[in-house]
Amino acid sequence: MKTAIVVHGGAWAIPDALAEASVAGVKAVVRAGDAVLKNGGSALDAVEKAVSSLEDDPVFDAGHGAVLNTDGEVELDSIIMDGKTLATGAVSSVRNIANPVRLARAVMEKTEHVMLTDRGANMFAERIGFPAAHDLVTELERKEWEHYKKYVVGVKELFNSQWGHDTVGAVALDSFGNVACATSTGGIRNKMVGRVGDSPIIGSGGYADNRSGAVSCTGHGESILKVTLARLILFHMEQGKSAAVAADTSLQYMGERVQGGGGAIVVSPTGDWAARFTTPRMAWASVKGDVLCYGLNPDEEFKEMLK
Ligand code: ASP
Repeated sequence: MKTAIVVHGGAWAIPDALAEASVAGVKAVVRAGDAVLKNGGSALDAVEKAVSSLEDDPVFDAGHGAVLNTDGEVELDSIIMDGKTLATGAVSSVRNIANPVRLARAVMEKTEHVMLTDRGANMFAERIGFPAAHDLVTELERKEWEHYKKYVVGVKELFNSQWGHDTVGAVALDSFGNVACATSTGGIRNKMVGRVGDSPIIGSGGYADNRSGAVSCTGHGESILKVTLARLILFHMEQGKSAAVAADTSLQYMGERVQGGGGAIVVSPTGDWAARFTTPRMAWASVKGDVLCYGLNPDEEFKEMLK
């Protein structure tokens, strides 16, 4: 069976200064995830590899490089989900963790729960020997936060502005026919302390089910939560729509119903995939078979042959 993987680096008005690094980042990471799949690895391993690599890249708002809340601190959210069993792990508002997606996977595999938050998530991380990271804040983010904290910008305008909020995500289909998703974020700059967006919430920031497909979302978290965007896209696929049409229909609904912008990556159990968004830009890349595709602007798709 042909494997497939799609990754995104956040849907927003990515400024030109970050465009090249964002595209280079998603291209490198999709290759790393694809290598996991081509070596017989699981979809779960591939999405964890892709998302943890994006968390390590300071260009993206997840792990290292995350945006700061109103108190000038990093609070991270992440989810991972296995479409074979519907096993899910998530963490929200965790601090000093370089790879929240790995902690989310540990919640899934080492506890009986689906989500741990804030202090409890950090206590769990300590108990299982997760190293604390104290270098997640980049100099650039500290400067941007200092600069932008004087402006009062509505959360909706954020996604058409050049305020950083590039959440990351991945969806994959492995050679056994299993799908998985993972999403990770620092959220939105200047969010209230304790604010949790869509990213770690099952059915909103991500969902995976071998019976329909896997989705990872990005964009205005409060809107995504209200329409449970990941599940909405899979609902449309269950009704027979293609990955692209299901994503477009759901994003359009979110725009009309709650005036929210965003993006989603999708893969079905047959390898039908899509990367769609209603924000000015979203960095994304995919590999299916030997073809690598990537894009940044709406209706733009570049292709490269691997090897
Ligand atoms: N959805 C994320 C949040 O609201 C942000 C993003 O995707 O850029 O936390």
